[in-house]
Amino acid sequence: MAQKQLRSVRGMNDLLPPYSDTWVYFEAQCRQQFAGYGYREVRTPVVEDTALFARGIGDDTDIVSKEMYTFADRKGRSLTMRPEMTASCVRAYIQHAIGKQEPVTRWYYIGPMFRYERMQTGRYRQFYQVGIEAFGIAEPSIDAEQIAMIYELYKNLGLTELDVVINSVGGPDDRPAYRDALRAFLLPMRDELCSDCQRRIDINPLRVLDCKVPSCKQKVADAPSILDHLGEASRSHFEGVQRYLTELGVPFRIDAKLVRGLDYYTGTVFEIIATGDTLGTQSTLVAGGRYDTLVENLGGPATPAVGFALGIERAILSLPEATAAAAATVPDAFIATRGDAAHTYAMGLAQRLRRAGKYIELDHRNGSMKSQFKRADKLSARYVIVIGDDELASGKLTLRNMDSRDESQVDEAALVAAL
Ligand code: ATP
Ligand code: MG
Repeated sequence: MAQKQLRSVRGMNDLLPPYSDTWVYFEAQCRQQFAGYGYREVRTPVVEDTALFARGIGDDTDIVSKEMYTFADRKGRSLTMRPEMTASCVRAYIQHAIGKQEPVTRWYYIGPMFRYERMQTGRYRQFYQVGIEAFGIAEPSIDAEQIAMIYELYKNLGLTELDVVINSVGGPDDRPAYRDALRAFLLPMRDELCSDCQRRIDINPLRVLDCKVPSCKQKVADAPSILDHLGEASRSHFEGVQRYLTELGVPFRIDAKLVRGLDYYTGTVFEIIATGDTLGTQSTLVAGGRYDTLVENLGGPATPAVGFALGIERAILSLPEATAAAAATVPDAFIATRGDAAHTYAMGLAQRLRRAGKYIELDHRNGSMKSQFKRADKLSARYVIVIGDDELASGKLTLRNMDSRDESQVDEAALVAAL
């Protein structure tokens, strides 16, 4: 009997060339952009104690209540494949007492996250995030700087249809009063809300504002605004964020219903949304905010913090074709050879050119000149260097520009310059 074909797990995709070229390019652009603002890379384990996420993200969030990959290891300990990385960063920050070593810490990360979700375009079970976290800064200028940093990068990558949305969900001092006001507004319409929202009214009514069910969305349209319930400190912080965003040239709008799906946010929250039509309802590209109480809640010293995470799949799905094409890697030259002596010489030549930083292709399979040119075309090589007996004897190599079809005779010393 034929064996069943093995396949990757549903919702978990292989990342293969040429698609991976764009991916690597995007990551490199992020690294370069973040470096200019003082962010340095951290890599934490994929697997953590389940308690970290339950305590960090919040028991009643969608992520913790229904999306986590949790399993018992061989000793029966409950472990979870990280659904996001802020909790891991905070754990590492506390564990290594980073706050004792430096007053301000800026980190970024790139890696896979795992959530058991219903799959759609832009929504997967293993997906990749790039994220940043800044610890130790309470001032609103860092919130604005982070938003501007990623907004500029996306704009430079050719993403023009972007909507920057900000809100303040208030701090521990403002939230209880707002929670009560919102609960009072929601209770009379309880029966008309979805079952999740009915539960949320009691546990965390702010989350009702985040519900994706259309009838719930409609019901909360007239809900009281958190912005009317901000105390003086939260209000002036939020005004500061807006002032700096304006200074940095970031167009934004305020949405008082933006609350985000994680419990740890305090004060500023923001999203960058793609307004084009490639992503459908999965249009949030970047999401983040302040989490001034999380370090303390997870057992560390009180430390203000702010950060964001972006989904790489969604970023790449919304990149214009020109940007994706620019990311493609094409050979600087393809060396086509005739005969053993030429092939032997070509091996050394390729190595010398690669030492000079060039991407050189060379066909090892001993095919015809015609098939080698075909291969060079297929790879979109910029030049073909032809080497046969004549070239070996004269020391002059034939260099063909594959765009213009011009040919010239050059010696090896002139090659690097010509390429
Ligand atoms: P959504 O509302 O789309 O479910 P979220 O609020 O769960 O997003 P965050 O946890 O804040 O998202 O993650 C930040 C970013 O990571 C998202 O804006 C998105 O770009 C990306 N992301 C989140 N979940 C997924 C997923 N399952 N597949 C692909 N990308 C994702
Ligand atoms: Mg989600």
